[in-house]
Amino acid sequence: MSTLSSQDSGIVIIGAGIVGLATALALHKKGIGSVVLEKAESLRATGAAIGIQTNGWRALDQLGVGPALREKAVRLQALREVFLDNGQTREARLGKEEGRYLLRSDLLQALFDGLPAGTVRFGCHIVKVKTDPVTSHSTLQFHDGNVAIAKILIGCDGVNSIVGESLKLKPTRDAPTGALRGLANYPNGHGFGNDYVRIKKGSVLVGRIPVDHKSVYWFVARPRLPGDSEILGKPELIRQEALKEMEGYPQELTEMVEKSDDSALTFTKISYRAPWDLLLGNFRRGTATVAGDAMHVMGPFLGQGGAAGLEDAIVLARCLAKELCMRPNGDYDGRQLVNKVGKALDEYVEERRMRVARLSLQTYLTGILVATSSMFVTRLIFLVLRILFRGSFSHAQYDCGRL
Ligand SMILES: Cc1cc2nc3c(=O)[nH]c(=O)nc-3n(C[C@H](O)[C@H](O)[C@H](O)COP(=O)(O)OP(=O)(O)OC[C@H]3O[C@@H](n4cnc5c(N)ncnc54)[C@H](O)[C@@H]3O)c2cc1C
Repeated sequence: MSTLSSQDSGIVIIGAGIVGLATALALHKKGIGSVVLEKAESLRATGAAIGIQTNGWRALDQLGVGPALREKAVRLQALREVFLDNGQTREARLGKEEGRYLLRSDLLQALFDGLPAGTVRFGCHIVKVKTDPVTSHSTLQFHDGNVAIAKILIGCDGVNSIVGESLKLKPTRDAPTGALRGLANYPNGHGFGNDYVRIKKGSVLVGRIPVDHKSVYWFVARPRLPGDSEILGKPELIRQEALKEMEGYPQELTEMVEKSDDSALTFTKISYRAPWDLLLGNFRRGTATVAGDAMHVMGPFLGQGGAAGLEDAIVLARCLAKELCMRPNGDYDGRQLVNKVGKALDEYVEERRMRVARLSLQTYLTGILVATSSMFVTRLIFLVLRILFRGSFSHAQYDCGRL
């Protein structure tokens, strides 16, 4: 399938990842239809699990999927950090902060299930986007040569966003870090408790986080290596690499990697959009914009990229609904619609810009902390973080507001 029928709404979202689905659901809840075009043949849950903090749960509650998702993951009690090089440990109780790690498949499915049937079209790979400067409509070219027109286009197409390219955003950058991830299953219970444990040795950081009582998500963040492309998509090599990086770590961690199912083992090169590019970038052209990683891909060091994308979905739908729902759908002539949508998208970009720039800066600095083994750099970055960002969880206290 490649062309959109005449009954399709004028809003086209590219990408059925977390943010594309959340945006479609947020619009649906405001009474606005959309079509989501996804290149894969089904929902893709790359990376096993995702941490959602208080700000993300607020957004999921606005989407109506928070309560059911809470049932699927334990609430984390504390963040425990161990520094193997000097034997130091640190613990921060999470207190009122709500942190849970969800299976990505559960999150995607919950968002998908909230949408009217037929909203998501799988197997639709968009290869080119061109926005007409006069009408502001975007022409979408599909991989099979078909074309379709979108009156309003929202790019939720991730790090290599084709919509971002059409908006002439600066390219994203490669971080010097790569992440190995997996999910270990313990049919009789893992017995690790409900704490998030992070263990650092040299420039390697290992994380162990319970999803529920039987499954544990883990990651290894380490400097990129020249042979990294060789392990992409090869579970057994990813497992061997993780075990190699964990030499000298407690045995329960290496056992966790051995227990992991092949299907959830991934290696990801970390990319980011520079915080200064977020401050200066032009995220709206005519009636086209971007959300989620397409706008603000950031490293995983605060665990906020996906949650920030959920916030985008709420704010974007709220801004569009404010402008579009004043009259019944379709009651605007072409120019009026373009002006209304342009205003809504400008409001959206303005509301999101400082939030994602700050998050991205905090993530960037935290990424330096992860990668360095220098005590001087560590102290310096801690100081800068303390001055700029108060408490270490302040990013999670953000409230994107009501839908
Ligand atoms: C190692 C790691 C750990 C992370 N941990 C966390 C965490 O704990 N908490 C958190 O909040 N965030 C975390 N993140 C960030 C989070 O994973 C992302 O921010 C989030 O998945 C972005 O969602 P998205 O929908 O914007 O993009 P994506 O998930 O990339 O989805 C984009 C979708 O668009 C589709 N697509 C792309 N191009 C096209 C096209 N041309 N035509 C049609 N379809 C297209 C893709 O197939 C895909 O389905 C982590 C990231 C990494 C790398």
